[in-house]
Amino acid sequence: MKRISITLIISLVSFTLLAQKTYIYCGKLIDVNSETVLNEITIVVEEDKIIKVEPGYLPALDNGIIIDLKNKVVMPGLIDMHVHLEGEMSRKSYIERFTLDDADVAFQSQVFALRNLMAGFTTVRDLGGRGVNTSLRDAINKGLVIGPRIFSAGKSLAVTGGHADPTNGWRADLMGDPGYSEGVVNGVDDCRKGVRQRYKNGADVIKITATAGVLSMARSSSNPQFTEEEIRAIVETANDFGMKVAAHAHGVEGMKRAIRAGVASIEHGTLMDEEVISLMKKKGTFLVPTITAGKSVTDSAKIKDYYPEMVTPKALEIGPKIQASFGRAYAAGVKIAFGTDAGVYKHGLNGLEFQYMVEAGMPAIETIMAATINAAELLGELENIGSLEPGKLADIIAVDQDPLEHIETMQNVSFVMKGGVVYKK
Ligand SMILES: [Zn+2]
Repeated sequence: MKRISITLIISLVSFTLLAQKTYIYCGKLIDVNSETVLNEITIVVEEDKIIKVEPGYLPALDNGIIIDLKNKVVMPGLIDMHVHLEGEMSRKSYIERFTLDDADVAFQSQVFALRNLMAGFTTVRDLGGRGVNTSLRDAINKGLVIGPRIFSAGKSLAVTGGHADPTNGWRADLMGDPGYSEGVVNGVDDCRKGVRQRYKNGADVIKITATAGVLSMARSSSNPQFTEEEIRAIVETANDFGMKVAAHAHGVEGMKRAIRAGVASIEHGTLMDEEVISLMKKKGTFLVPTITAGKSVTDSAKIKDYYPEMVTPKALEIGPKIQASFGRAYAAGVKIAFGTDAGVYKHGLNGLEFQYMVEAGMPAIETIMAATINAAELLGELENIGSLEPGKLADIIAVDQDPLEHIETMQNVSFVMKGGVVYKK
């Protein structure tokens, strides 16, 4: 009797110690390190991590679970470096700033987060909202809500009247004089305070609007908005707090200031010239292209009264130029990390960007690298994500066709695993 109970205890202990493994049989696997496609590979997953990636279909030992992806092309979970999970542009967006409470934003952002995950994006970088994005990140990490891993900027930083000043275009008595807690900063000290406040609010990354932009209620689409000294203070302070800086920029002067001041990425980069390109190469600055947003705002601007009068001409000026600018930057050797500005167009259509990148001259395999290994590098998360290697998180997706032949298959991701949990099959 005594012996039985001891055996029982030992077997219970060993059962809990040996977590069940999952064996994923991959017909094809895109290896983003070697830039090659491997055939017949098994990925072994234990809890939330990859523990083995080996040739052949390994036998599933100890009641291991088998996931058969022999007819699919498997790759690392995709990373979108530029999304806004709190909302989605529509005719109503400008009014909704006044009508939606944070709770309303929180509920809708769960739906948008899920759409990104189901499109194969296991990680996203949220580059600006009200700060609900940071709570959404925490809720997903706690397992309360299903969505991608989020790296959040919280609120963007802008100068007064700048692209991310949340009160642009408001009636004078409503607009007031928002300060650092709203992300509006002027002068070096205020810029440092803005960064520190973002850190205190739980941001992972700092987003600045280095130039004007399309969708804000302001005249210019591209004028420089921070001084170089201000951006330098932001970058220094962010780095002190372990954060990188992402700079929204369309115009040349603002881009140059941001790159010289040491930002990690230029978002959009629409009007970049040769000097900007060579500065980016010299400083190792990433470009995050967001071609999908460019095309989407162009299409919407052609619909009468879709945007406010002030926005329409800016959308028609900037939107159509993004794809070609990306093509020039890529051809010149600028580092590229995949990003789409999801939220400016419909969440879940992020996979369109792959096709647009290929159209602009980037080989399909490199578009996938931009959305995996390169994006992980820009996030500073190469140890955890971006490739399928032992020790990394089990963020794994699959498509039905070979994307190197049919890039449009990236719009139909048919298998999604994040952190060892299957969300789509
Ligand atoms: Zn954006």
